[in-house]
Amino acid sequence: MDILTVGSVAFDSIKTPFAERKRIVGGSATYFSLSASYFAPVKVVSVVGEDFKKEHEAVLGGRSIDLAGVAHRPGKTFHWACEYHYDMNERTTLATELGVFADFKPEIPAHYRETEVVFLANIDPELQLQVLDSVKHPALVGCDTMNFWIEGKREALGRVLERVDMLLINEGEVRQLASEVNIMRAAAKVLKMGPKWLIIKRGEYGVLVFGEGSFFALPAFPIEDVNDPTGAGDSFAGGFFGYLASKKQFDEWALRQAAVVGSAMASFCVESFGPDALLRIAQKDVRERAQSFKKLTDFDGNI
Ligand code: AMP
Repeated sequence: MDILTVGSVAFDSIKTPFAERKRIVGGSATYFSLSASYFAPVKVVSVVGEDFKKEHEAVLGGRSIDLAGVAHRPGKTFHWACEYHYDMNERTTLATELGVFADFKPEIPAHYRETEVVFLANIDPELQLQVLDSVKHPALVGCDTMNFWIEGKREALGRVLERVDMLLINEGEVRQLASEVNIMRAAAKVLKMGPKWLIIKRGEYGVLVFGEGSFFALPAFPIEDVNDPTGAGDSFAGGFFGYLASKKQFDEWALRQAAVVGSAMASFCVESFGPDALLRIAQKDVRERAQSFKKLTDFDGNI
């Protein structure tokens, strides 16, 4: 199955306690597509400005990533700046400059409309809705969001949630969305907003998968050298939806495997700056890391 995604293609300026890089290619759709394209063909809807040149676009080239839906408009490409602290789970957003995204009306190429799996990556929920409206009969719809939109566009976000099967967000955002501190109670509240599955990303602590009557927890793969956590969430989503699309099954056991694949992709992502690691890994690396998860979490239950 193919995947359609809408999200940001961006320039990111990132500062960690150890290094700093300015205006490197990033964005939720970029990380998602690079990761998902290891498993299934991806079609991207996004917009970039005049400052986004051929060499920037080349980051997404040479893979099964269709860029026909990435518009080039006068103005500046979305720019996001952030700083990580010594605890790399904590980051401060320094700037969110929407640029050409501010008044973007997506034009969906005709050949995108039959796509079976849709992932609405982190972007304005109004835009997520427009893209969702343009796809005919998706078999699976997932979405991401973040505090910026929970605070600024809660009503539109509510309309998105009513129409998605799976929501992937981080722990703090679940609490914020549900106005509830306890994560079990918060998850139950979010499931009442529409999605059948809630996938909670917990950074270096792993991931939780909640569904009606089911619950699954997985640690993150332990990494010694975390260089840049940016895009880990989107890489997780890419591996997760890419795997589901390749398997064409969306039941609890497929979701458990997808969580392992997503976690493997996120673990590669954080090892280098920006999307670099996602550009150089091979299928074999992904399989090996997924196997390591089995060892990491397996034990004899006869206690
Ligand atoms: P993650 O680290 O997985 O949460 O995602 C980081 C990516 O999200 C960066 O590459 C940013 O360009 C992008 N991003 C940050 N804020 C926003 C926003 N408000 N809307 C869309 N994309 C964003």
